[in-house]
Amino acid sequence: MTTHSRPTPPSVRQDADFIFHELTRSICPVCKLVIDAQVILRNNKVYMRKRCPEHGWSEGLMSADAEMYVTAAAFNKPGTMPLRYSTDLKDGCPLDCGLCPEHKQHTCLALIEVNSGCNLNCPVCFADAGQGFSLTLEEVERMLDRLLELEGEPEVVQFSGGEPTIHPQILDMVRAAKARGIPNVMINTNGIRIARDERFLAELEELRPTIYLQFDGLERETYRKIRGEDLLDVKLRCLERLARIDLDVALVAAIERGINEHEVGALVEFGINHPAARGIVFQPVTHTGRHLPFNPLERMTIPDVLHGIVQQTGGLFRREDFVPVPCCFPTCQVNTYVYVDGSQVIPLPRVLPVDRYLDYITNRTLPKVPSLPDIQRALEGLWSASAVAGSAKTASQFSCACGVSLDLGTDLSHAKKHVFQIAIKDFMDAYTFSVKQVMKCCVAVLVPDGRLIPFCAYNSVGYREQVRAQLARRAEEANHDRYEP
Ligand code: SF4
Ligand code: SF4
Ligand code: SF4
Repeated sequence: MTTHSRPTPPSVRQDADFIFHELTRSICPVCKLVIDAQVILRNNKVYMRKRCPEHGWSEGLMSADAEMYVTAAAFNKPGTMPLRYSTDLKDGCPLDCGLCPEHKQHTCLALIEVNSGCNLNCPVCFADAGQGFSLTLEEVERMLDRLLELEGEPEVVQFSGGEPTIHPQILDMVRAAKARGIPNVMINTNGIRIARDERFLAELEELRPTIYLQFDGLERETYRKIRGEDLLDVKLRCLERLARIDLDVALVAAIERGINEHEVGALVEFGINHPAARGIVFQPVTHTGRHLPFNPLERMTIPDVLHGIVQQTGGLFRREDFVPVPCCFPTCQVNTYVYVDGSQVIPLPRVLPVDRYLDYITNRTLPKVPSLPDIQRALEGLWSASAVAGSAKTASQFSCACGVSLDLGTDLSHAKKHVFQIAIKDFMDAYTFSVKQVMKCCVAVLVPDGRLIPFCAYNSVGYREQVRAQLARRAEEANHDRYEP
């Protein structure tokens, strides 16, 4: 961070070395004050530049590919409003979460953090897991009821933490979500308990949640650096057990500059060939909570991961195979789907012009087929934060979308013949936080008082710390009340 006084005037007029792209609102990376922020394009990259009256100027990399960032704007779909809001307009975005009536999208995916404790102590942990709180089953049931009021028919709930599998009632929580008719219930886990606890595995087999499995690489060193210990064998054992009970798994890889960016291609190929994996989600490391030292001007972004996949998979993928997700702000995430039949791997955008169907602004001409609205709806379902890798809905949307172009046969669940999802999502940190994106966020954390707080606001603006302090205080008071001298 630097503080500038007025620059000394040059003797001749000079061209700026950047293009001023847009103005948004952000936060100071030091004190979190809400301030104006400029988005600028320089050397085909996108940067956020802003000035805090107290802490001076700061700059962070938003995207390593300006062309991709700018053209993504065409994929911005009109939002669908939630049934109810939980907060009023008072201090403006992002201080009124939420959702407040100014929010532009309902919640496709709701997260419930059931605890803050964990059986690991990763050097990279945006949740800053540790002592704090553990929700009761009754609280989670009330929160699920609240979600039904806010969303009507929520499609996806993800139990997260801390580490949700160490919560003694996590399975009852999954049951409670299923009992409320929520079709996709996910557990976001490091996989340790699944790898070690046979009884837990048997209960998962019966309940059948989707497993969102932390899986950062195939090299031991990656785990040592990101997770603090070599977890490769644990991860492989976990996956092998999940394959045995035929549970759907989305691999989730945190990618950090200089640590595992060279592994993205191998991860995709591993996922495509593993019988349990139905998709992989790449997340450039979010520098909130706990993280390694980093340079905000060199952080990993979506194009870095995407170009890595293209370069490291020997011609399997092209840049055009990945299309922005329109339900959130389209610079937040790109997706692709591949049809796998033995050794044949076909990305869906090779057989269908997905980008033309999902372009809401430039109105590019679409092929004249009678089933156009059905295809468009199917693609909107696939290119959504609520698309769950391996779910029956995803398989049927895939079949609908490419039924005209690919002979899929009937059994998409067969191990050799399946659909595999690849997503790259770049959560914002204090250097890149933009209200323009977060106002249309469709991923939110449901907190015990019934608010739904957009995920990047929850992590960057200070909501996580507030909620955790409140819940930790409550736990302390409860212990105090129980104390009998
Ligand atoms: S992020 Fe959404 S809910 Fe939060 S303050 Fe902004 S508009 Fe309101
Ligand atoms: S990143 Fe996940 S596994 Fe690691 S400490 Fe945090 S909550 Fe636990
Ligand atoms: S969580 Fe962040 S990156 Fe994801 S949709 Fe919301 S604002 Fe965008």
